[in-house]
Amino acid sequence: MKPQHTEFSALIVAAGRGSRAGGGLPKQYRRLGSEPVLAWTIRALAAHPGCTAIQVVIHPEDAELYATSVPDDTRLLPPVMGGETRRDSVLAGLEALAEQAPERVLIHDAARPFVTVEVIERVAAALAPDRAAFPALPIVDALWRAEEGLVAAPQPRENLWRAQTPQGFPFAPILAAHRAASGDVPDDVAIARSAGMAVAVVMGDGNNFKITLPSDFDRAERLLQQEKGPSQMDVRTGNGYDVHRFAPGDGVVLCGVKIPHTAALKGHSDADVAMHAITDAIFGALAEGDIGQWFPPSEPEWKGADSSIFLLKAIERVAARGFTLTHVDCTIICERPKIGPHAQAMRARIAELCGIEAGRVSVKATTSERLGFTGREEGIAAQATATLVSA
Ligand code: MG
Repeated sequence: MKPQHTEFSALIVAAGRGSRAGGGLPKQYRRLGSEPVLAWTIRALAAHPGCTAIQVVIHPEDAELYATSVPDDTRLLPPVMGGETRRDSVLAGLEALAEQAPERVLIHDAARPFVTVEVIERVAAALAPDRAAFPALPIVDALWRAEEGLVAAPQPRENLWRAQTPQGFPFAPILAAHRAASGDVPDDVAIARSAGMAVAVVMGDGNNFKITLPSDFDRAERLLQQEKGPSQMDVRTGNGYDVHRFAPGDGVVLCGVKIPHTAALKGHSDADVAMHAITDAIFGALAEGDIGQWFPPSEPEWKGADSSIFLLKAIERVAARGFTLTHVDCTIICERPKIGPHAQAMRARIAELCGIEAGRVSVKATTSERLGFTGREEGIAAQATATLVSA
């Protein structure tokens, strides 16, 4: 059966200042992969062949951000400025669309970039001159009401739905309802209902979530990578190299493991030369500089620091960029101390910090046959390779 495509105009509400997702910018302008969230959202709506026009409502302070964020699409109308409340912003968008007098309008959150053509079609096709529609998911988890941290009573979940957008409406009735509306209303569905419209629920999509918190950005990055499929899986390799010289002392720290020795390693932090090489390998795979750029040695804060903080920062960046660390290989180059007896403990510690199994971490050692600075026991060198795969 040939898929049907229902025509509609899209209204995207992007006037919010929402900064709960972190990163300083309003979340709709923050980057997701290669583009701002808003660009993905516009493309998602434009992907439906029935989409005839796209009207975005923006905050008056965001005109410049908007201009550099949106994709080239002839269906994209000049932006209109939003008002004090979400309701004011939606009304401004509807008034701007009134000139074109579309039959149907789909009102969508700027922070839901993963809406699919299928969900859009289900909403658009459910519309009638006296009926609105929106996508939602049935609640499958048990629901409990809690008071002061203790469960008080079970709540029936039958017939309960979690609302998503786009919410779809016959255009003329929703414009009239918005013009007549006053007071506090939760959303456009409430306005439609107060104007006597029936509102249908159609099946939403689990990936059509609203980016709200910092963790939602991580989820969105992973989803973006997944959508690319295995043929476009992004595999990256980085290498790291570090040297620290010996100084008087009674032990060294290598891969987070303290080893008794007749000398210590000299450095601004705990001088864990092996962990530094691993950390730089990960930063290298991300093409995000090196330890020195993230933790300048000029800052006294890192004096004597446990080098795990450097590695944990690199791991945090791996997750934020939507990658998974799949393998680490580190070679420690020294005559003494003997590394072999400690190699398993080192693997375990690195695996623990990286959040991966020890089978994905290799720690080995070599001497330099008494040649060069490591051969003369002036210091220890380490090199490492890290492999990242798009999550
Ligand atoms: Mg170092």
